[in-house]
Amino acid sequence: MSTTQSPPRPIGATVLGYPRIGRHRELKRTLEAYWRGQATAADVDRTASAVRHDALATMSAAGLDSVPVNTFSLYDQLLDTVMLLGAVPPRFTNVGGGASASGTDLDLYFAMARGTDDQQPLEMTKWFDTNYHYLVPEIGAATPFALDARKPLLEHAEAVAAGVRSRPVVVGPWTFLSLAKSAADAPSTFTPLDRLTELAEVYADLLRALADAGVEWVQIDEPALVRDLDATALARVHQVYRRLGELSERPAMLVATYFGDATDALAAVCSARVDGIALDLVAGSPAPPPARVFGTTQVVLGAVDGRNVWRTDLEQRLGELRAWQALPGALSVSSSCSLLHVPYDVSVETGLNPAVRASVAFADQKLGEVVALQRALSGEGSDDPGARAAFAGSAGASRTRAADLGRGRDEVAQRVAAIRADDRRREPVEVRRVAQAHRLRLPALPTTTIGSFPQTDAVRSARAAHRAGRIDDATYEERMQAEIADVVALQESLGLDVLVHGEPERNDMVQYFAELLGGFATTGSGWVQSYGTRCVRPPLLHGDVTRPQPMTVRWTRYAASLTDRPMKGMLTGPVTILAWSFVRDDQPRATTADQVALALRDEVADLEAAGVPIIQVDEPALRELLPLRRAAQQAYLEWAVAAFRLATSGVRADTQVHTHLCYSEFGEVIDAIDGLGADVTSVEAARSGMELLADVALHGFAGALGPGVYDIHSPRVPSADDMAALLRAATRALSPEQLWVNPDCGLKTRGYAEVRPALAHLVEAAARVRAEL
Ligand code: GLN
Ligand code: ZN
Repeated sequence: MSTTQSPPRPIGATVLGYPRIGRHRELKRTLEAYWRGQATAADVDRTASAVRHDALATMSAAGLDSVPVNTFSLYDQLLDTVMLLGAVPPRFTNVGGGASASGTDLDLYFAMARGTDDQQPLEMTKWFDTNYHYLVPEIGAATPFALDARKPLLEHAEAVAAGVRSRPVVVGPWTFLSLAKSAADAPSTFTPLDRLTELAEVYADLLRALADAGVEWVQIDEPALVRDLDATALARVHQVYRRLGELSERPAMLVATYFGDATDALAAVCSARVDGIALDLVAGSPAPPPARVFGTTQVVLGAVDGRNVWRTDLEQRLGELRAWQALPGALSVSSSCSLLHVPYDVSVETGLNPAVRASVAFADQKLGEVVALQRALSGEGSDDPGARAAFAGSAGASRTRAADLGRGRDEVAQRVAAIRADDRRREPVEVRRVAQAHRLRLPALPTTTIGSFPQTDAVRSARAAHRAGRIDDATYEERMQAEIADVVALQESLGLDVLVHGEPERNDMVQYFAELLGGFATTGSGWVQSYGTRCVRPPLLHGDVTRPQPMTVRWTRYAASLTDRPMKGMLTGPVTILAWSFVRDDQPRATTADQVALALRDEVADLEAAGVPIIQVDEPALRELLPLRRAAQQAYLEWAVAAFRLATSGVRADTQVHTHLCYSEFGEVIDAIDGLGADVTSVEAARSGMELLADVALHGFAGALGPGVYDIHSPRVPSADDMAALLRAATRALSPEQLWVNPDCGLKTRGYAEVRPALAHLVEAAARVRAEL
């Protein structure tokens, strides 16, 4: 049992967390089979335990001195925390008591994650500024709290049995409540943080239970400490940690901050008798704050980027770390955040261009970097053959990089240097409106969709067969054309006003473009968890961006040839392409964004020249990259908006530019969205009951707006009445000439059985409300 009496043994080389979906996404497969009724709870347990054992074995073999546990999850770490704290929303209390696996009641757990016949799941939202989504805890004045520590205790026991020095990880009380939303029945003055003091007692119980199990260090994740916090908030943080620090029986506490600079919160945490603090030196400042704020608190230096994949320049990083050696407490070295955000292992990517592969470190390679830095920092580097080899490899990689990665291409640099302010500017909005109305001749409240139509098995298997070489280009082309023809015919028969080709040729809205643009590479199995069992394979944006040939023109032109109605061309915007890729870090993102924007500008010009009258450039991730601290937001929005405008401003006044965004919390970014200068902006709105109309009424909006009237995240088919009601609400906030009618997002995840009637109702709702104008 550990106590606070003697200073705890330093952590040493570690990481804050490790991927958990399985090297071959085996957890995904088993869970999805379980949900279909084709696997048992015992199967889930077996797979989960194998994934955890692989993680333990890999991390200890790499030489970590302390191995994080309880970073495994069957779905999401915030949902795990809801279970840990017993903070189950009362609406789920009748579920459960069924199968259990890995210390978790599966029925209750998946009911909260995925919903039941009569309960909506917990809401899902993005984890800070990443593309990972967590489930939002619902906390009310009466939500119960009661510790259930089975999962961390089980994972700790597994590690101990495997002879591993284990460090359980939990989400901390401040972050948990900061990310929670108020339960629907809570009084309007209530906020989840009102229950902080009470919740701290559950953490106290947890610390005692961990101490009883012989846990030496516990890691308490508090990424919310890198956000803007006022003095009152910091005082409350201090109070909670002082309470926990005072416990006589507890493990040593490491408070882990990441995704930004925690300098402002340091004094509050370090003066509260915590034993260690983890800092993100990649997203935060790499230079040490004054030694006095740390006291004797040990510092875990997040020196290896846990979110991006470029190899660390170890020599340079070591130089930065040496500046921290003036601090009184022991130093350890870690990843900047959990490695959840990067794939497992780049050594399996045999299809990657060798220069790119040699420049990249996925989770397993990052373990080696952390260990090498730790050994070198503590002066053991020269005796450690692994560390010596890592430093030599890093030096080699930083020498070859630029030359072989497609960087420093003169023609790209010259084009970027030649960008003028005018390239980001179109004719005045009134001029465009008149020219477009004349050309398009659309009715009031025009109807359209966001781009994709259901990706049927036939479409997916045609793409897979083409990729595998089982069907030739001509056959593939034919199948896609047949699909496009069906989608166009369907839209005509439904009576939609602006048609799309349906995007059957796209595996993913970013990967599709990454495969066609120069400067990008794609991986074979570089999967990263996005939410639950859903994984994405972010492309590697390693070099200068070029567009060797048009990417979408032939599909759009073919679709347009089948109809007299206006056809909308579909592109993914520069900010979203950056957000969902691993982006080179040797130049400002703004420059990389402009390079992508120039490539898209060429595509836009080609679409216009092919006679396409409407071009939509999707930016669903515009908001995701918004910096966590207010002070940094303006600069980001400036370059993001500028890149979008560069991509879209090369067209004539009578070409209509659309954009699409996937969220409804408009407020803080509404000016930037209007600043994109799109003629029409479609946004998710149905799911949140048109919440955004209040922001629109408050701030005004210059362009036309299509607030979604069909929630495509649900299999439910809304009636024409439902949609007409939403539209009427919209006509009260926007002038009718400003209003478009569309679903919340693309239809690719839905089936035709739902989409056909839903779109028919959408067209009918538009007709009804149009008649009332
Ligand atoms: N055009 C894309 C589609 O319809 C947009 C997807 C998105 O917004 N995420 O699928
Ligand atoms: Zn969307």
